[in-house]
Amino acid sequence: MVKETMYYDLLGLPPTASSDDIKRAFRRLALKYHPDKNPNAGDKFKQISKAYEVLSDANKRALYDRGGESAVIGDRTNVGSARGSQLNILNIFFGGRSRTWPRADRRGRTVTHHLFVSLEDLYNGATRKLSIQKNVICPNCKGLGAQQGSVIQCPKCQGTGMETRIIGGCIPGMMHSLQTTCSECQGEGEHIRPCDRCPVCNGRKVTREKKILSVHIDRGMKNRQKMIFHEEGDQVPHSPPGDIVIVLEQREHPVFQRNNSDLLTIMEIELADALCGCRQRVRTLDGRSILVRSRPGEVIKPGDVKCIASEGMPVFRRPSERGNLIIQFKVKFPEPGWVPVEHLQQLQELFPSQAKPDLPEETEEVDLSNYDPSEDHKSSCRREAYDEDGVQYSHPRQCQTS
Ligand SMILES: [Zn+2]
Ligand SMILES: [Zn+2]
Repeated sequence: MVKETMYYDLLGLPPTASSDDIKRAFRRLALKYHPDKNPNAGDKFKQISKAYEVLSDANKRALYDRGGESAVIGDRTNVGSARGSQLNILNIFFGGRSRTWPRADRRGRTVTHHLFVSLEDLYNGATRKLSIQKNVICPNCKGLGAQQGSVIQCPKCQGTGMETRIIGGCIPGMMHSLQTTCSECQGEGEHIRPCDRCPVCNGRKVTREKKILSVHIDRGMKNRQKMIFHEEGDQVPHSPPGDIVIVLEQREHPVFQRNNSDLLTIMEIELADALCGCRQRVRTLDGRSILVRSRPGEVIKPGDVKCIASEGMPVFRRPSERGNLIIQFKVKFPEPGWVPVEHLQQLQELFPSQAKPDLPEETEEVDLSNYDPSEDHKSSCRREAYDEDGVQYSHPRQCQTS
C-alpha cells in the first residue's frame, strides 16, 4: 500500500507499474509535453519529469511509496532542481548518446505564441501589442547570482558541470554509466552558498520581466505564418537569448474563405435573378461596397462559379497585386404553390418549348413522388438478392420525367 499516488497519476500508471511501464509512459508523455513541441503545456513537462526522476530510481521510489512526496524532498540525494533533472532526462531520452551540455549550447528557450487574427487583419495589415513574460539577466548581480568573488567551484563536479550516473542498475548486464549534467549545479560548474545569493534573483541569475511586443501584421500574410523575433526570448547568462516565435492563427470568416491569394464566397440568388440578371452587393474586407452584376440575358445555374479579377487577397510583400474573388452561386428556387396555377401556362410559354412526347395508345400515367434514399437502400438490397440468382436488373440512378 503506497502513501500517495500523485507521481503515478502524473504518468497515468497504477502504483503496481513495472519499471518498463514507467519508462514507456514517461517517454510517451515527454514527447507530448516537451516544451519545443507543446509550448502551452505550462509546467506539465516539469511535473512528469519530476515524477519520472523519482519513480525510475528504485531507492527514491521506495522512499516515495513509504512516505510520499515530502519524504523524497527531504532526501539529501534529491537536491537536483527541476531544471537539472529535466536536462538529465532529456540527455537520456533525446540526446541518445551520453552527451554533455556545454554552456555555449544553452541558448535561452525559444518561446512560441499564437496570435489570433481576423481575415480583415491579414487583408489590411495591422499592429498588435502582445504582453509577454520572459527571463532577463538579473540587473542586480549582472547574471552572476551573487556578489563577485563569492561564486565558488561546484564541489560535486569540480567545476566540470558533468557527473557520471549508473543506469539500469537493477537488471544485471544492463548496467552502464552515463555522463550527464551535474545535478548539483545544473552544468554551471559553480556553487553559491545560500547566504551569498543575490537578494533580487535569489541566485537564479535571471528575473522575470514583462515586455510588450509590437507585432506588425503585413498585408497578405497567411494563416499559420511564423514571425521570428530574434533574441527576444529568455535570456541566460553567458549565452545568446532565445527567440520569440509568433504564429498567426486566422479566425474563420463568416463570408470569405481564403485559398492562397484568392477569396472564395458563396452567393445565394433568387431564381428570377438567375434568369433575368442579378445585382448583389458585396462588402470587401477593407470596407468598400462592390456591386456584382450579371449581364442581361446571362443565365446563372446552381453551382456556377464566376470570378472578379483583383478583388482577392493582397499578395504578401507585393500588396499592390491581388488575387481574385471567386463566387460560387446557389440558386434559391421558389416554394411549391408560389404562383397561381392559372399563370403557369403563361410562364411556360416564356421558356424554350419542349417537344411533346410521342405516346403509344396504351401508355400508363404515373405521378412523381418524393424520393427517400433509405427506402431505395432496402429495395436495392432486395435487388442484389435477385442478382445472385442470375437475373439482371438495371439500377436507375435518377427519376426521369420523359
Ligand atoms: Zn556541479
Ligand atoms: Zn541577481
